[in-house]
Amino acid sequence: MSEKDGLLELFYRLVEVQAPSGFEEPMMKAFINEIKPFVDEVHGTPRGNVIATQNGSDSKAPKVALVAHLDQIGFIVFNVDALGFIRFRKIGGSVTRAIQGQHLQILTEEGPVVGVVGLKPGHITTPAEANTIPQIEEMYIDIGALSRDEAEAMGVRNGVPITYATSTVNLANGLVASPSVDDRAGCAAIIHIAKTFSKRRPKATVYYIGSVEEEIGLRGAATCIYDLDVDMAVAVDTFPAGYQPDVNMRDLYYEVGKGAGLHVGEQGDRVRIQSQQVHRWLRKTAEAHNIPHQVGIMRGGTDSMEMMQTRSGVPAATIGIPRRYSHSPVEVFADSDLENLVKIVTIAIKELSPGFTTKRV
Ligand SMILES: [Zn+2]
Repeated sequence: MSEKDGLLELFYRLVEVQAPSGFEEPMMKAFINEIKPFVDEVHGTPRGNVIATQNGSDSKAPKVALVAHLDQIGFIVFNVDALGFIRFRKIGGSVTRAIQGQHLQILTEEGPVVGVVGLKPGHITTPAEANTIPQIEEMYIDIGALSRDEAEAMGVRNGVPITYATSTVNLANGLVASPSVDDRAGCAAIIHIAKTFSKRRPKATVYYIGSVEEEIGLRGAATCIYDLDVDMAVAVDTFPAGYQPDVNMRDLYYEVGKGAGLHVGEQGDRVRIQSQQVHRWLRKTAEAHNIPHQVGIMRGGTDSMEMMQTRSGVPAATIGIPRRYSHSPVEVFADSDLENLVKIVTIAIKELSPGFTTKRV
């Protein structure tokens, strides 16, 4: 048995669960079921975050929150027209150019209804149309229904959530392509860490948290550690990588397969700096144990930014898994990056002892 045993299988199980932002219940249940055997207590909060507690062996050691988000990008039914075609909108930042021609699943209360995103026949598109991407408002889903009544009888109504129905596939060199790598990879990582520590507890108490609504503005993270006595938090997430033919190195620095990403900061509309104390703790661990990692500024935002603003401020940083084709149905990551992330976080927590401090001065 090696430390990574079952990690990828856990990831494959979690990507089968459909939970777009605001509709996370299936992932809340899956997270609870998967982590329950390894922790002392687990519960869902009114906001939807799931908090699992694993008491450490030394009550004076630091208390750490590991946070992965339960939600995924998706879509939502906007309306159903008289002929049974479905107009829809995005939940989160789905890449517009990836949508047409895809299989989607409409997550009705009676179960998923599969549909395809229709598009104009190539024979009649004008040259100008052929080179532009329609806006989401112009797109439509075909479920085969012949009328609104028939669609509604299938459970397809306004406000029903939708996800990609694209299959997960394995590529060469340990690469995996799947929808919702963001952030089922992170969920798999923290559940796996809980499993490892269930056999031999570290000194530190660890809270394993599944947060909600990350993709629509880090909303779950704003409350997820509010009631907890934590010394620091680590968001475990994915992030966009470069090194693909249509991405310039000046825009994306990180590379798939080169190790977990340890971010100094995040660049959204401005660069925001993460807790350098938490960042350094993770980075020194990776360096000391020669675990492949990459250090840089990631594009986008993660839950750590929001957790830093909880109460009087909780030191937080993000460690992540680089992935190509971010927010598409074929997000590609390397299994080695996931394993290396798990290694870094596991060893970093194992080595925490009462003297550790996140004080800035
Ligand atoms: Zn994410």
